[in-house]
Amino acid sequence: MNEAATILSVVIPVYNEEDVLPALFARLYPALDALKRRYEVLFVNDGSRDGSVTLLRQQFERRPEETRVILLQVNFGQHAAILAAFARARGRYVVTLDADLQNPPEEVGKLLAQLEAGHDYVGTWRANRQDMWWRRTASKFVNLIRERATPIKMADHGCMLRGYARSVVEAINSTRENVTFIPALASLYAANPTEIEVKHDERVAGASKYSLYKLIRLTFDLMTGFSTVPLQAFSLAGLVLSLLSGALVVYLLGRRLVLGPEVDGVFTLFAIVFFFLGIALFGIGLLGEYIGRIYVQVRQRPRYIIGAVLEAHADPEAPASDVVERRRPPDYVA
Ligand code: UDP
Ligand code: MG
Repeated sequence: MNEAATILSVVIPVYNEEDVLPALFARLYPALDALKRRYEVLFVNDGSRDGSVTLLRQQFERRPEETRVILLQVNFGQHAAILAAFARARGRYVVTLDADLQNPPEEVGKLLAQLEAGHDYVGTWRANRQDMWWRRTASKFVNLIRERATPIKMADHGCMLRGYARSVVEAINSTRENVTFIPALASLYAANPTEIEVKHDERVAGASKYSLYKLIRLTFDLMTGFSTVPLQAFSLAGLVLSLLSGALVVYLLGRRLVLGPEVDGVFTLFAIVFFFLGIALFGIGLLGEYIGRIYVQVRQRPRYIIGAVLEAHADPEAPASDVVERRRPPDYVA
C-alpha cells in the first residue's frame, strides 16, 4: 500500500470481542468500500484472551491490503490501544470506532465528509443512545461537571466514533501522558473542530468491557487529567468552611461565658464534626488522585507493548522507542 495514498485509517480497539467480530467484518468492509477511498482498517487487539486474535488473523488473510492488526501483549485499556494505532496509522484522516457495532460503520462517511471539508476534528453525540438507563443518567451528570470543571467542550464525551485529521493525530502522538482520554486531547488541539450527530445501537453481542468501577476510574482520569479545578474548588470550600467553623467557635464560646457549661446539642456538634471529617477525607482522596497521576507518570512505563504486527507492507519507519517489540516480522507470512 502506498503510504501517501491512504486517505482513511479506521482504528478499532478489540478486547475479548469474538462474539461480535464476524458481524463487524461483514458490515465494516462493505461500508468502507462504498466510500471509494483508499483505506486501511487498523485493529488493535488489547490483550484479548478469547478467540479474537484468531478471527483478526483470518480477516487479515482475507483482506491483507486493507487490514493491519496490532497485537498488544496484555490488556492496556481502550485509550492506550487507540494510541498504539495512532502511532502507526497511515491515513490522512483517522476515524475511531468501537468493535461492538454500537457505532454503525455506515456513519464513517459522514465523518469523512466533515474531515474533507477541512475540519481537523469531528466530535459526535449519540442520537437515541442505546445503553442502560443508569449509564445514561450518570453520563449526563458527568458531562455537566466536565463541561464546568475542565476546558473540554463537547456534547457527549462517551461516544468513540470520532474523526481526526493527521495534524491532530500527530499532536496526540507527541503527548507523553500515560493515562489519557483521546477525544478530550483532540478537542484541546483542534483548530477547526466540529460536532455532528451519529446513530447509536445496542451492543450486537457480548458484554460491555466497562464495569462500574472502570467507569468511575475513567471519570476521575478525565477530571484530574484535564483540569486542576477540583483542587481549587476544594481549597475554596476549605476556606469557606474554616471561616464558618471559626464563627461557630466564637458563638459557642460566647454561650459558654453567658450561660455556663451546656451538654445539650452534643449530637448536633457530632453531626457537624462528621460532616467536616467527610469533606477532609474527600480532600485527601482528591489529592491522592493527582499524586497517583504524578506517580504513574514519573515511573515512565510504556503505555503499551506491542507483541506483533500483522501487515502486508512493513512500516518504512517504525515509530517511537516507547514501544518494545518482541517479534515483528518485516512482512507477515501466513
Ligand atoms: N476495549 C478495549 N480495551 C479495554 C476495554 C474495551 O480495547 O480494556 C474496547 C472494546 O473491545 C470495544 C471498545 O473498547 O471495542 C468499547 O468497549 P465497550 O463496548 O465494552 O464499552 P461501552 O460501549 O460499554 O462503553
Ligand atoms: Mg460498547
